Amino acid sequence: MKALIVPSKGSGYELRDVEEPKRMPGELKIRVLRAALCYRDLLQLAGFYPRMKYPVILGHEVVGEVVESDGMFRKGEKVVSTLYAFDGICRFCKEGDEAHCVNKLGYSEELDGFFAQYAILKSESAVRVPENASDEEAVVAPCVTGMILSGLRRAGLKHGESVLVTGAGGGVGIHAVQVASALGARVIGVTSDEAKVDKIAKFCSSVVVGPKFAEKVKKEEGEVDVVIDTVGTPTLEDSLKSLRAGGRLLQVGNVEPTTKYELRLGYVILKDLQVIGHASANRKDVQDAMELSAQGKVRAVIAGTYKLEETSSAFAALKSRERVGKVLFSP
Ligand SMILES: [Zn+2]
Ligand SMILES: [Zn+2]
Repeated sequence: MKALIVPSKGSGYELRDVEEPKRMPGELKIRVLRAALCYRDLLQLAGFYPRMKYPVILGHEVVGEVVESDGMFRKGEKVVSTLYAFDGICRFCKEGDEAHCVNKLGYSEELDGFFAQYAILKSESAVRVPENASDEEAVVAPCVTGMILSGLRRAGLKHGESVLVTGAGGGVGIHAVQVASALGARVIGVTSDEAKVDKIAKFCSSVVVGPKFAEKVKKEEGEVDVVIDTVGTPTLEDSLKSLRAGGRLLQVGNVEPTTKYELRLGYVILKDLQVIGHASANRKDVQDAMELSAQGKVRAVIAGTYKLEETSSAFAALKSRERVGKVLFSP
C-alpha cells in the first residue's frame, strides 16, 4: 500500500510502497476513506514532537471502513479514531476523560498514523460514524468539531451566550462558528480577509473584518461571553479586550511551541477572566459532534481533496492563507 512516511526527525516525508499493516488482538484494521491535514502535521515534520517514533506514518485525523476486527465492529462499518490510544483504566479514563489518560499514545507519534491506504487502530479509539454523517463530516470530528465541542463544554457555554471566533475562515474557525451556533450561541466571526466574509457569514450572526476588532465588536455587539481564538498572538490582545468581566477565552491556536505572548496579569485577574488552553476531545465529544453533523447542524467545509501522490499540493493548500476549510487526502 501507499503511505506517507517520516523516516527520521526533521527529514521531511516520503511517499513509499509498504506492506499493509497487520492487526493484533484488540485492534482494528481500516481502509482509509478520508484523512485530514492539520497544522500539527507541519509541527511534527519540523520535529517539535519529542515522542515520535521513526519511521512513522504521518496523519492523525481519519475516517475509515472496518476491514478486520475482533468482533466489536462489523466489516464495512465506518469509524473515526480519537487522536490517541488510551489505557481505559487510569482515573481519567474511568471518568470518560480519555484525552488526559496518563498512558496515552498518539497516532502519528508513538503509533503509526493515517496518511496511508490502510491503518491500524486500537479498538477503544474507534468511534462509530452515525448513518447520516458524511465521510467529510466524520473526518473533521476528532481534531476539529469534537475538539471545539469539548472546549466549549470546558468553557461552560450556556444557550443564548455570545461567542466570538477569530480566524473564522480557517480550517478550525469555519467549523467552530457552526459548533457554537449549534449549541445555541450568538456567533460573531472575525477574519482579517475581506474575501472570506461571504463564506463565513453563512454560519454567523455577524462578521467583523480586521486583526483589530475589539472596539468594533464592543460598539456593535457588546462584550462577549466566550472567545474561541484560533489564531494566536496577532489576535490575542483583542480577544481578551472583547470579553466581558467573567468571560472565558478558549485558546486553540497557534500551537507552534516557541510562540510567546506577554499576558498582563492584572488585566486577566481584575476582569475575572478564564484562559483555557485547549486541543483535545474525548470519545463522547467526537460522537456528539458527528451527531450534530448527522442532524445537519454542523457541515464540513472542505478546501480541497487530494491523492497521496499529490502531497506537495495538499501541503501547499494547507499553508495557503486564501483557503477556507479543511484539506483532505483520499488515499
Ligand atoms: Zn489535527
Ligand atoms: Zn487512562
